[in-house]
Amino acid sequence: MPRKKTPKSRKRLFRVAVMAAVRDPLTYGAPDSLEVWPGQRVTVPLGPRKVAGVVIEPVPQMIAGVEPRDILETLDSEPALSPELLTLGLWIAEYYLAPTGEVFRAMLPLGSNARRVWVLHLTDSGRERLEEIKSNLLAEIREGDESNLLAYIEAHPGAALETVRTKFSDPRRQIVTGAIKQGWITASSEERERRKVLAVKLASPPPDSAAAETRRPSAAARRILEALRDQHLARDHRQLLNSADATLGTLRGLERQGLVELFDSRTGLPREIDPPSEGAESAMSSEFPASLTLTTGQSSALEALCEQLAEGQFRAILLHGITGSGKTEIYLRLVAECLDRGKSALLLVPEIALTPLVRSQFIERFGGQVALLHSGLTDAERRQEWWRIWRGEARAVLGTRSAVFAPLSNLGLVIVDEEHEASYKQQETPRYHGRDVAVVRARLAKALLVLGSATPSLESYWNAQQGKYQLLTLTERVQGRRLAEVEIVDMRQEFRETHTQAPVSRRLHQEIEAQLRAGRQTMILLNRRGYSWFLLCRSCGEAVTCINCSISLTYHRGERRLICHYCGYATSIPAHCPVCGSEYLQYIGEGTEKIEEKLRELFPQARVERLDRDVAGRAGRYLRVLSDFRAGKIDILAGTQLIAKGHDFPGVTLVGVVSADMGLRLPDFRAAERTFQLLTQAAGRAGRGEMPGRVLVQTFYPEHYAIRLAADQNYPGFFSKEMGFRRMMHYPPTTALAHIIAQDETLERAAEIAHDLGQFITEAADERQIRMLGPNPAPLARIEKRYRIQILLKANSRTHLNRVLRHMADECDRRHIPPRSVMIDVDPASIM
Ligand code: ADP
Ligand code: ZN
Ligand code: ZN
Repeated sequence: MPRKKTPKSRKRLFRVAVMAAVRDPLTYGAPDSLEVWPGQRVTVPLGPRKVAGVVIEPVPQMIAGVEPRDILETLDSEPALSPELLTLGLWIAEYYLAPTGEVFRAMLPLGSNARRVWVLHLTDSGRERLEEIKSNLLAEIREGDESNLLAYIEAHPGAALETVRTKFSDPRRQIVTGAIKQGWITASSEERERRKVLAVKLASPPPDSAAAETRRPSAAARRILEALRDQHLARDHRQLLNSADATLGTLRGLERQGLVELFDSRTGLPREIDPPSEGAESAMSSEFPASLTLTTGQSSALEALCEQLAEGQFRAILLHGITGSGKTEIYLRLVAECLDRGKSALLLVPEIALTPLVRSQFIERFGGQVALLHSGLTDAERRQEWWRIWRGEARAVLGTRSAVFAPLSNLGLVIVDEEHEASYKQQETPRYHGRDVAVVRARLAKALLVLGSATPSLESYWNAQQGKYQLLTLTERVQGRRLAEVEIVDMRQEFRETHTQAPVSRRLHQEIEAQLRAGRQTMILLNRRGYSWFLLCRSCGEAVTCINCSISLTYHRGERRLICHYCGYATSIPAHCPVCGSEYLQYIGEGTEKIEEKLRELFPQARVERLDRDVAGRAGRYLRVLSDFRAGKIDILAGTQLIAKGHDFPGVTLVGVVSADMGLRLPDFRAAERTFQLLTQAAGRAGRGEMPGRVLVQTFYPEHYAIRLAADQNYPGFFSKEMGFRRMMHYPPTTALAHIIAQDETLERAAEIAHDLGQFITEAADERQIRMLGPNPAPLARIEKRYRIQILLKANSRTHLNRVLRHMADECDRRHIPPRSVMIDVDPASIM
C-alpha cells in the first residue's frame, strides 16, 4: 500500500514582496499559528537574513519540488495596506519596472517598525582565537578588550552592534572593526521588528465577580487594574507596566482572565475611546469663512467640480487657471464639499515649505481632521500621522509626492496643485511620478481628480486635448487685477552699448530705483545658487571639477568653498590650477550670492535679502525671510526658483529675471518647457496686490519662443509651438520615453553593461514600434564616482515599451547584473 502523504500540500502559501533588491515577489508558507492577510507586513527569511515584506496574495499551488520557507511573524494585526493601495503598488512596480519590495517600502512608513540593525557573530577563526586566549597561549592580551569582546559575542550570538559598542565604550567602532578585519567576527544586517506597543483598557463589560474571585489577582496585577481605573485607556503598555511595576506576563494573565483588553496601539484602538468627533466636523465645515466672494470664473469652475464630485465616479479635470486666479480657494472649498459628503480628500503640493499659506488655511478650515505628510517630518511624526489617517481620524490630507500613498479610505477627491512641477517625479527607485500615480489612485478609488496649474505640463494639456481630461480654465485674476506687463531686455544690445557684462542692466537698475522711491517691493530671480558658476583657469582653459562627477564646482562665498551641486563634495579654493599649476584662476558667471552682493552695492539704502536652498537649509530662516518680505520689511528679495513659485506677495510690483535663458542651454528636451514655466510663474508673482505689476526679463536670446511666449503669457501659443517640436523629434507626450543608464565605477564596465542592455533590448524590440538611441555617454558623464552610459527608448506603444523593458530587466537578473548598475527611468523628468 502506498504510504499516505502528510497533508503538507494544504499549507497556505502567499506571494510576498520582500524589501530587498529582489525584483519580483517570492512565495512563502504560513505556519498554522499565523493569521495572514494580503496587505499585511511580515518578516520573512531571505538567505541568511531576516527581512520585512508585504503580503500580496494567496497562491493556490506549490510549484513541484520547491519547498517554500515560512513567514516568520506578522508586523500588523490588521493589514496596513488596503486592497486599493496594494493594487496601486503593483501597478507602480509593473509600470516603472521597480522591485515590488522597494515600491512598498516607499509606500509605508516602515522605517518605523522594522528597523535594520547590525548583528555580530563569532566566526570559526574567532572561536579559535578565543580558545587560544583562554588556554593562556596569548596571556598578554587576556584581559584586553579583544578577548572580552570575543567572549561576549560567544556568549551572545547575534548581539546588536549598538549594544556592543556601548558596552565596550567603542564609539568609533575601532575595537569591533578591528575584530571584523581580523576575520574573528562578522557583522550582518537584519530587519528587526520594534516591539509592538499595546494599548490597554479595562474589559467591558467587567466579568461577573464570581469568575473574578476564582483567581485572586496578584499584587502586581492589582496595581495594573488600579492604574487603569484612573486612566481608562493606557496607550502604551510599557508605561503602564513601568508605573505599576509589573511585567508583560502579568498583563497577559489579566487578558486571559478577561479582565483587560489589549489592542495594537497603531491599528486597533477601540473606537468608542477615540470617537472621530462627528459634531466638531460638521461645525467646522459649516462655519466656513464666507468672507470671500468668488469671482464668476471661480464659482463656475467650483460648480462644475462639485457636480463631478457628486457623481461619485472617476473623473479627471485639468484646471488651467492663470497666476493669481484664485485656484487655492477653489481647492479648499472643494475639499470641504468632499468631507461634507462623508468622503476623504487628498491635496498634493510640490513642497509644503513653499506654501505656508495653503498649509495654514488648510489647518484653519479643516482642523483636527487634517494630516500633513511631507519630508520635514521625523520618522516618528510621519508614523503617527500615517496611522491617524489609517484609523480614519484624519480625512483631509495635505502632502508632498509620497502623500499620494496616504492610507485614506473612502477617498472622494485627489487634487494635484502645480501639477507641472518636476518635484512630483521621484529621482530614485521607485521612480514614480506623483501626478501620474494620483491619476491611477483616483481611478481605483472612483474619485474626482483635479490637476491644477497656470502652466500645465505638455502631458496634461495634451491629455485634455485628447479628451482624456476635461479642461476648465480661469482666465481672470481675482478682483479684476491685471496680469503684469512683461518687457524683454536684450542683453546683447546692452553689451554693445555699455561694453560691460553687468548682471543688472541699465533698464532693470532704473526700474528698481523707481520701485524703491515709491516704497514698493522687488523680486530678482536668478536660478543658480552660489557666488559664481565655476572657477576657470585662464592658462589652460580648464574649470575646476568635482572629484566624483564630471561637473564643474560652484563657488559658494558664504562657505568659502567650491561645492558640487550633484554629490555635495566640497573643497577649499585652490591657489593654483589643479591641472596646469597656473595661478590665474578666474570666477565665471554669477549666482544668487553675487547678485545679492551686487544689489547691496548698487542700492545701499535698500533692505536686500536672499532666498535659495542654501538659506532655506537653515531652520526657521526661510520662513522668516518670507514673512519679513510679506510684512514689507525687505525691499528687494533675490533668489532662485524658490521665490518664483506659488507665493502670494501683494506688495511686489516689480519682478526682474536676471538670466532668463540659463535653462535653455541644457541638453534636455524639456528645457524650453521649464524655461517657459519658470518665466510665467515668476511673472505671476508681480501685481498680485492693488498696484499693477511689471516684469523685466534679461536675456541673450530675446527671439526664443519660450521667452517670447512667456512674456506674452500665452500658454496655448507655447503649447502648440512646443508640441510641433516634440512630435517632430519623437518626444513625449506623443511618444513614450524611457531613459536607461548603465553605471559603474569604471568606464569599461559601464560600457560593457550598456552594450549588453542594448542587446537585450534589440532581442525583444519590434523596430516598427520602438527606436533605440545609444548607447552613448550621458550628458552628465560621471556622477558620484560612477561613469554613466545612456540609452533612450522612444516608443509608439506603451505596452510594447513595457514589454521590452521587462525583458531587459529579466535578462539583467538572469545575468546577475546588479540593479544598482542599471537605472531604468520610465517617463523621465530629464534625460541628463
Ligand atoms: P493662484 O494659485 O491661482 O495663483 P491664489 O490661490 O494664490 O492664486 O490666490 C491669490 C490670492 O487671491 C490669494 O491671496 C487669495 O486669498 C486671494 N483670493 C482668492 N480668491 C479670491 C476672491 N474671490 N476674492 C478676493 N481674493 C481672492
Ligand atoms: Zn590650468
Ligand atoms: Zn560631485
